[in-house]
Amino acid sequence: MDRRRRRSKILATLGPASNDEASIEKLWRAGADVFRINMSHANPEAMRETVAMIRAVEERVGRSIGILVDLQGPKLRVGAFAGGGADLLVGQTLTFDSDPAPGDATRVCLPHPEILSALSPGHKLLIDDGKLRLQVVEATGDRAVARVDVGGRISNRKGVSLPDTEIPVAAMTPKDRIDLEAALETGIDWVALSFVQRAADVEEVKAIAGGRALVLAKIEKPQAIARLDEILAAADALMVARGDLGVEMPLEKVPGLQKRITREARRLGRPVVVATQMLESMISAPAPTRAEVSDVATAVFEGADAIMLSAESASGKYPVEAVTMMNSIAEEVEQDGVYRTIIAAQRAAPERTGADAVAIAARDMAETLDLKAIVAWTASGATALRVARERPRAPILALTPIRETARRLAVVWGVEAVITKDAHDVDDMANRACKFAVRQGLASPGDRILIIAGMPFGTPGATNMVRLAFIGEDGARAE
Ligand code: PEP
Repeated sequence: MDRRRRRSKILATLGPASNDEASIEKLWRAGADVFRINMSHANPEAMRETVAMIRAVEERVGRSIGILVDLQGPKLRVGAFAGGGADLLVGQTLTFDSDPAPGDATRVCLPHPEILSALSPGHKLLIDDGKLRLQVVEATGDRAVARVDVGGRISNRKGVSLPDTEIPVAAMTPKDRIDLEAALETGIDWVALSFVQRAADVEEVKAIAGGRALVLAKIEKPQAIARLDEILAAADALMVARGDLGVEMPLEKVPGLQKRITREARRLGRPVVVATQMLESMISAPAPTRAEVSDVATAVFEGADAIMLSAESASGKYPVEAVTMMNSIAEEVEQDGVYRTIIAAQRAAPERTGADAVAIAARDMAETLDLKAIVAWTASGATALRVARERPRAPILALTPIRETARRLAVVWGVEAVITKDAHDVDDMANRACKFAVRQGLASPGDRILIIAGMPFGTPGATNMVRLAFIGEDGARAE
C-alpha cells in the first residue's frame, strides 16, 4: 500500500512492539505517514537509534517520512510510601508536604515546592490518571491538606494532575531540554510539547529550535483551552491529547473540545492531530470495537490532518493491524457521500493574502474542471499548507527543493511531497509538475492538472501564480 488513497494522515507511535527496522517498514507500508517517538519512554540514545532506522526505511521506500519527537513535559508525581502504597478512604484527609520521608495514609511528599505554594483551597488533585480524586481544604504554602472524594490505593510515584492550578513552571523540564537538543541535532521534523499552558511555553521551544524543527503544542490542560487562541498563534500545529485532557477535564467535555480545537486549527491552517485511545482495544485484540471505529471516523469527518496511534502501535500485540485498520477507516470515510459536505461546511473564510486567494482559486478550478491534482511548488511548505486548508477534492502534490519541508508536510492533510530542485523557468515548472503528477500515480497522459507557485522562485510568502496544464501523451506538458 505504498500510494495513499486517503487525505488524512496516520501517526504511529513507536515502542517495544515496533522499534526495529522491519516493523517500521511494515507500519509504513500499512499506512503510517509519521512516526512518533515518545520521550516519556526513551532517552537520547534510543531516540537516535530509532531515527536512524526510520531514515533507513525512508531511503528504501523512496518517500519522505515525518518524525515527531514528543517531549515528556512536567509530569507531576507524588513521592514514595512506606510499603509501596496506602489505601485512601473517602472523607479522610491526606497531607502533601515536602518531607522526602516515605509517606503513609496520612501524608506524602509532593516533591515540587512551586506546586505546593500554588495550591489553594478548592483545587482538585487527580491521582493516577484520575482514579483517585482529592480536594484541597487547607493550604499554607509549604503543605496542603486534601480531602479524599474518590478513594482507592495510592502507590509510589503516581502521577498527579491539577486541573484548577496554574502551574508556575515552564513546560520544559531539564530532561526535556536535553531531549530537545538531542532531537534537533539528530534532524527530526516535529517536536511535540506536553502540558502547554500558555503561548510563552511554545515560544520558548521555537526559540531553541530556531527553525530546525516545527513545534506542535499538545492541548491537554484546561489552562491551554482557556488560551487556545494565543497558543494557536504561536504553535506550528496542535494535538488534541485526549488522554490527559480527559483526566483534567470532565470526560464528557472531550468530544466537544476535540471539535473546537480541530475547527480552530483548521481555521488558521495549522495541522491538527487527534490522539489517544483511538483503537485502544487493539492493544490486545486483532479487531477494534464499533465505538473505536466510530471515534476514528469522527476525527476524519471533522477534517483533522492526522489521527494517531499510541500504545496500539508502540506496545500492543497488533501494531500493523492497528495501522491497517486506521487506514481502512480513513479511506472508507473519505469516500462516503457526506464526507465532502461536512468538510466543506467547516471551511473557514480566507485571510486577505495572495496565498489564500491563490489557494481558493486552485480549489475552485480543480473542482470545476475535475482536475487530477493541484501541484504546489513550495520551499517552506506554506503554499501547500494554505491549499490544504481549503481541503480540496484533488490531491495536493508538493514539489520542494528542501528535504525537511517534504518531511514536515507528511503530517498535513492531503499533501504528498516530492523533493526536486527548484524550477529554472515557467516551462520547466509546468513540465516537471506534469511529470511528477504522472510518476506519483496521481494523473495520466490526457489529464489536466493545476500548478501553483510563487514567482520569483524562492521568495517566501510570494504565492502568486496559478497555471492549468494538460499532460501530453509522453507525460510531459502540452498546451
Ligand atoms: C495524551 O495525553 O493524550 C498524549 C498524547 O500524551 P502522552 O501520550 O504523552 O500521555
